[in-house]
Amino acid sequence: MNGERLRVLVIGAHPDDPDICCGGTAVLWAAAGHVVKFVSTTSGDTGHQAIGGIELARRRQAEAQASAKVAGIAEYQLLDNHTGELEPNVANRRALIRLIREFSPDLVLSHRPNDYHPDHRATGQLVMDSSYILTVPNMVALTDILPRQPVILSFSDTFTRPCPFQADVVVGIDEVIERKLDMVNCHVSQVYEWLPFNQGKLGEVPAGDADRRRWLAGEYRARFELAATRYREKLVERYGEKRGQAFRFAEAFEVSEYGARPDEKAIRRLFPFFG
Ligand SMILES: [Zn+2]
Repeated sequence: MNGERLRVLVIGAHPDDPDICCGGTAVLWAAAGHVVKFVSTTSGDTGHQAIGGIELARRRQAEAQASAKVAGIAEYQLLDNHTGELEPNVANRRALIRLIREFSPDLVLSHRPNDYHPDHRATGQLVMDSSYILTVPNMVALTDILPRQPVILSFSDTFTRPCPFQADVVVGIDEVIERKLDMVNCHVSQVYEWLPFNQGKLGEVPAGDADRRRWLAGEYRARFELAATRYREKLVERYGEKRGQAFRFAEAFEVSEYGARPDEKAIRRLFPFFG
């Protein structure tokens, strides 16, 4: 590869959040030789209608590893916290500070702290609470500090209170949309079992692998189109009129005020595929 190798840390609350919120952009980074690590701050051991505990946690672990392989990313780590019970407490903050310092990222991506799911909220809060402390030697003192704060970006969402998501960086992902869907397809116990059950449409899920992959594309394409439709102006601004109008799929991110504040030069460094 040309130039530096970026280190990108994607911190979701559940195994599948990094894939769904940032999977396309992650594939673009990984394909260009950059080091991408996905983290789930909980093990995923409760989101299912029929199984739980160790059986579900280990299934989620295997599904995450399958997705990492499809994505070509370096690592997919599930932390051993119960899903649905994550708290933004000091113990979890310390664990996250240690994890982030040890990975030494150029860029961290996570949830915003306003979200329907308590684990998403807690994860976003924990990342925000860690950001300044990453550079403070006397806290988590046995793990070396980062010389400077990384840039922190938040995944897009549609919540409006107390403030709506702001699309600061929008990435067109058409060239990798099938790969993103293949990643999501690995999370079988979520996308073909738990989520359809929770949404009252378990009966719609086809039986065979190929049929359900096709069904998945139908279910998720509209969702992945949303960012391109909503933030079309940003795509045009970034990629030019012709290409920006043509993108059907995108992922959008908001710059956190609590991390390093990137200027345009820094954004181009962190998103080298912008050219
Ligand atoms: Zn989630």
